[in-house]
Amino acid sequence: MKTRVIVNGREFQVNECYKCGVEFAMPVVLDETCQRDKQEFFCPNGHTQAYPGVSLCDTLARVRRDLTAAGAGWNRAEGKVIRLRKALKHRKPKTGRK
Ligand SMILES: [Zn+2]
Repeated sequence: MKTRVIVNGREFQVNECYKCGVEFAMPVVLDETCQRDKQEFFCPNGHTQAYPGVSLCDTLARVRRDLTAAGAGWNRAEGKVIRLRKALKHRKPKTGRK
């Protein structure tokens, strides 16, 4: 269960470090951003914290791989079109019977 506190009218999310157990508060907006974007943050003792899931870096890496694969597919298709056009250009006309 998440605990939130209000200090001087600002809302903070209370988190507990998984490693050292220290409780610390961070602005709710920042906590939500870290949760949504899977950004790392740190406890006051410097231990890296993160919400589980796919990070933006992982998503970006996947998109880059997909883009590279799509580009390679495009190049193969373009090469095939060029070869077919050449074959069509050099094709001998059919001589049909009348
Ligand atoms: Zn810690």
